[in-house]
Amino acid sequence: MSFFSAVEMAPRDPILGLNEQFNADTNPAKVNLGVGVYFDANGKLPLLQCVQAAEKTMSQDPKARGYLPIDGIAAYDAGVKALVFGEGSEPITSGRVATVQAIGGTGGLKLGADFLKKLNPSAKVLISDPSWENHRALFTNAGFTVESYRYFNQAANGGKGGVDFDGMLADLKAAAPGTVAVLHACCHNPTGYDISPAQWDQVVAVVKAKGLVPFLDMAYQGFGYGLKEDGAVIAQFVAAGLTFFVSTSFSKSFSLYGERVGALSVLCESKEEADRVLSQLKIVIRTNYSNPPTHGGAVVAAVLSNPTLRAQWEQELGEMRVRIKAMRQKLVDGLKAAGVQQDMSFITTQIGMFSYSGLSKDQMVRLRNEFGVYGTDTGRMCVAALNEKNIDYVCASIAKV
Ligand code: PLP
Repeated sequence: MSFFSAVEMAPRDPILGLNEQFNADTNPAKVNLGVGVYFDANGKLPLLQCVQAAEKTMSQDPKARGYLPIDGIAAYDAGVKALVFGEGSEPITSGRVATVQAIGGTGGLKLGADFLKKLNPSAKVLISDPSWENHRALFTNAGFTVESYRYFNQAANGGKGGVDFDGMLADLKAAAPGTVAVLHACCHNPTGYDISPAQWDQVVAVVKAKGLVPFLDMAYQGFGYGLKEDGAVIAQFVAAGLTFFVSTSFSKSFSLYGERVGALSVLCESKEEADRVLSQLKIVIRTNYSNPPTHGGAVVAAVLSNPTLRAQWEQELGEMRVRIKAMRQKLVDGLKAAGVQQDMSFITTQIGMFSYSGLSKDQMVRLRNEFGVYGTDTGRMCVAALNEKNIDYVCASIAKV
């Protein structure tokens, strides 16, 4: 009998499974709105100019590939801190942020989860309902009991959908002290609905009053309203005197998905505390994968620390953001023109790469099977995968279901 005979087949990843189905689809008009990836106006995954420029410079002075420090490239970590907390902000100048380079945003979340598990093994983790599909599995696999707080309610806004803010606040209020609250810093995945700065103030107050541990997942900084604007929520937590976790992902904002560039930052009470936290994060890293890979981190560090490349990045990021917003408007207009009776203008009030379309599972399955338009069964569509060439077809297909 084989050692592995009792191993069960794990369920397919829902999004990657959808991708496989899309790739096998022979419909020439097929459109993939299932993925969480930004495509340009030509439907291509962009390779940003700033990234190409940084790589060109790097290739002119090629470097040997020694091991990086356990916590990553110092200039990279400094760049992350400045983006997340603001250049010259008190948390940075006082030295009370511990930042480590991580294997994507997912890696940042997992490092934080593993560290938290050592610190407070009996804590519960609360994620939004719904949330990025990997949050629950990631924190569960790190050994936590994961529950959710109310977030999206299809019945809100007269049936058009929106955040159940009272429910969210009530569920956070009901949590035990020490509970880890995973919060989407901006561009909520999957719904596309964020809460307002005034609502964030209320969340911050509850987190503080209840002694919860905030874990901000920032996977889309720059895709909402701008780098500074999207990062403003961090300052609200800082102003309240809280200590907290922030995971960063550059997968989308640098279009460097496969390079796995992310980070974890932990804001502590003092520099001395941050030094101790950093030493523990290094142990988590050392015992998992020893130290991070060189290339992606070096590219991002080069762009963030060079004023010309940095300006170029901000421009390219802005273009992505503006294009997504234009596609939201086109989607609303196109659906109306295609004969959809319902008011779909809520799509332009959503933010980031995704739209919760309000379509049912049956409608999403029909879209897929009859028209080759792929979104998730929850009705989530990636607006960042729409372009001038596919949008009319997508609108006409939605109108038909
Ligand atoms: N967190 C959220 C909310 C996401 O949507 C994603 C990616 O889709 C991630 C984290 C993971 O990012 P990365 O691909 O950098 O690991």
